[in-house]
Amino acid sequence: MKAIVCVKQVPDTSGKVAVNPDGTLNRASMPTISNPDDMNALEAALQLKDDTGCKVVVITMGPPPAEGMLREMLAMGADEAVLVSAREFGGSDTFATSQILAAAIHKLGLEKGDVVFCGRQAIDGDTAQVGPQIAEKLDIPQVSYVADVVLEKDRIVCRRMLEDGYMTIETETPCLITCIKELNLPRYMSMRGIYSAYSKPMQIMDFNALKDETLIDRETIGLQGSPTNILTSFTPPQKGGGMMLEGADRSACKTLAGLLAGKHII
Ligand SMILES: Cc1cc2nc3c(=O)[nH]c(=O)nc-3n(C[C@H](O)[C@H](O)[C@H](O)COP(=O)(O)OP(=O)(O)OC[C@H]3O[C@@H](n4cnc5c(N)ncnc54)[C@H](O)[C@@H]3O)c2cc1C
Repeated sequence: MKAIVCVKQVPDTSGKVAVNPDGTLNRASMPTISNPDDMNALEAALQLKDDTGCKVVVITMGPPPAEGMLREMLAMGADEAVLVSAREFGGSDTFATSQILAAAIHKLGLEKGDVVFCGRQAIDGDTAQVGPQIAEKLDIPQVSYVADVVLEKDRIVCRRMLEDGYMTIETETPCLITCIKELNLPRYMSMRGIYSAYSKPMQIMDFNALKDETLIDRETIGLQGSPTNILTSFTPPQKGGGMMLEGADRSACKTLAGLLAGKHII
């Protein structure tokens, strides 16, 4: 039984966002972090390990320096890491990314009791498409927006967060869930974990390692295999400063109503 956690290294968008002339993000010029939702996905997998003793495998598709992020996850308690990295994978959109990650997970092998954990969405691409697409390509059930999860024998019970409430779903395994921040509070690396992180297995999967997987095809990976075209990409202009209306009395309400009517909002 294993928990596979998909983790994306993302640019720290709290600073200045740089864009290449072709519309892609200039990732090299920005510091990177682990995608926040993916830390909740990892924590959920580690809690499953605490309860059941299952193996936790972290996997990322990204450039070679993403190994550092995977080592941090090994230090937090994951057992093995897989770095999916090759020039052929560069420029992949969500369709191609999920194709490659599904092939890598297929190669690891999925059995009854296994769960694939993803974050709900990445803070750079922001599409929330990769998790559901991986599940589709692996032909396994998926539950998105998971705020609580319990494994019962070889079935899984998830509480999904909706706009106006929760939905409880039970599904068979193997399955894929996408995790939201309400699920848990991610743990820190432990001292013992940091010492052991470099002795844990780190598998590199390049194009040759995956090309024989049924799910991968050179025509559907990388920039040329990506159906999405970015027409233009830009940093939106800063919004103008707001206007403060002093006092919570009738005259302030009158002024506000006058301003809104002047803009034809009311
Ligand atoms: C033409 C084009 C070129 C692009 N070129 C690049 C590029 O060169 N490099 C690049 O990084 N992006 C590139 N992108 C962006 C790329 O499409 C997305 O960043 C990527 O496919 C993931 O989509 P997302 O960020 O919306 O993730 P989401 O769908 O929002 O992510 C959901 C979850 O899926 C998992 N996940 C997503 N991506 C990965 C990953 N790489 N590894 C492991 N788990 C993952 C995580 O658990 C994440 O929380 C390109 C996009 C386009 C359209």
